[in-house]
Amino acid sequence: DSVASSSSAEGYTGVENLVIIGSGPAGYTAAIYAARANLKPLVFEGYQMGGVPGGQLMTTTEVENFPGFPDGITGPDLMDRMRKQAERWGAELFQEDVEFIDVKNRPFTIRSSEREVKCNTVIVATGATAKRLSLPREDEFWSRGISACAICDGASPLFKGQVLAVVGGGDTATEEAIYLTKYARHVHLLVRKNQLRASKAMQDRVLNNPNITVHFNTEAVDVVSNTKGQMSGIQLRRIDNGEESVLDVKGLFYGIGHTPNSQLLQGQVELDAAGYIKVKEGSAKTSTDGVFAAGDVQDHEWRQAVTAAGSGCIAALSVERYLVSNN
Ligand code: FAD
Repeated sequence: DSVASSSSAEGYTGVENLVIIGSGPAGYTAAIYAARANLKPLVFEGYQMGGVPGGQLMTTTEVENFPGFPDGITGPDLMDRMRKQAERWGAELFQEDVEFIDVKNRPFTIRSSEREVKCNTVIVATGATAKRLSLPREDEFWSRGISACAICDGASPLFKGQVLAVVGGGDTATEEAIYLTKYARHVHLLVRKNQLRASKAMQDRVLNNPNITVHFNTEAVDVVSNTKGQMSGIQLRRIDNGEESVLDVKGLFYGIGHTPNSQLLQGQVELDAAGYIKVKEGSAKTSTDGVFAAGDVQDHEWRQAVTAAGSGCIAALSVERYLVSNN
């Protein structure tokens, strides 16, 4: 059963039920559920990634762990299907970045370069961006040797049975290194400092693992390729004495954290120290009534397409309940 839409022909108040910001798995899943509930959601898909909607999966090739695709599916194909499904149920999509949000006054205001919309609820599904090192040849090897997700890419034929490197000294990097030992021949962990920042338990697991070599005081400077243009190693530099060397590896994993795309909400909903939107445990509710968050922008831990989609579903169902109880 559906909730009457405030934008349906009769009694149109000029205030939308719901605006969804973001076009990753969280945003589109929320759009599918909300559209099917007849909420007539508007979706601002974003224009950041070279004008392509679809979020982080647009930057990858095969997705092998999204349920329902036993032979895998490419990231762009998966996102195109989600987009079509949202459109089919009547979600209205705008390929625009939201530039301004006001959720302090009601109805809320959402503004892009093209339009200003008033709405009763918002789902923020703006995702997160993996931090990069900005190596000179990084773009050339992104997804062709460089990855920011061991769980996503560790088992791919590109990396299986190879010698790999992970950059970073915190929990993310140590977890990635340990995870990669399942598939790799050997893993090198490159740490800029002279110690690890990870928890003691993770440090012990890394330092005692014969399949991991930790290089302290070491930074990656660039990618080295073979005559076929494939990654064959990484140029390293010692921080303490400036010495340079080449480490032969077939893959480089970044474990240096993510930046949640929550800047527009700063001061309007509670964020944690790293900028992730805080939600009440097990829900999509933020500290501001009527504002919900889904996907990587509120999840520093799991960061998977399926968990993002799941939280998008929870957010849309929560909006439906909220609108019923506030009508
Ligand atoms: P995102 O996918 O980050 O999408 C956020 C969206 O919000 C984007 O469309 C962006 O343009 C938009 N946006 C941001 N700011 C604004 C704004 N101001 N206005 C409007 N729109 C805005 N996960 C897996 O489960 N399996 C995999 O195999 C896998 N492979 C990956 C490979 C790579 C290279 C990367 C980077 C990630 C991979 N992941 C994988 C992780 C997965 O992509 C993310 O967990 C998932 O995309 C998060 O979904 P999301 O909807 O929260 O956000």
